[in-house]
Amino acid sequence: MQPNVWCLACCSRLASTRPPDPVMPSIFTRILAGQVSGQFVFRDDLWAALLDIRPVSPGHALLIPLYETQYLADLPAPTLAALGDRLARLVRAVKTASNADAVNVVINDGPAAGQEVPHAHLHAFARFPEDGKRMAWPATPYAGGDLNIWADRLRAAWR
Ligand code: 5GP
Repeated sequence: MQPNVWCLACCSRLASTRPPDPVMPSIFTRILAGQVSGQFVFRDDLWAALLDIRPVSPGHALLIPLYETQYLADLPAPTLAALGDRLARLVRAVKTASNADAVNVVINDGPAAGQEVPHAHLHAFARFPEDGKRMAWPATPYAGGDLNIWADRLRAAWR
């Protein structure tokens, strides 16, 4: 799949094999381009972090690649390679600023997973004991040989 590629300075399309897409540039690309205001925590040539306007808890930050593509796995290799460092530093900043011992890091990778903005990003927000914000997804143990079957499936899909 050929992702759309945007120049953040001029916000014009540089390369795409797709027809014009009305949802691009995303709100995040427009914030990164300075066309919409945003409260930045940091920014470098690959990633930026800014405050979410609807925080789960105060200081809720979004880690956003400058490269615009919807899915995490479609990001360029250098962007992905830098992710661990930027995420660890953002988690540390959220903890320090919030005086919190715990942080949730969440990525909604696709609309069915709750992704509203079609520009890959990670959420980091502080958690406190008994704050009532537990993500309570229903979970059930595997039945029969399903654990092995699913392990085989994922190993086969690994690349
Ligand atoms: P998603 O559901 O796509 O994982 O999360 C998108 C997040 O972007 C939401 O938490 C939402 O509050 C945030 N958001 C949407 N529009 C804006 C905006 O214009 N500015 C900022 N800072 N955050 C936004």
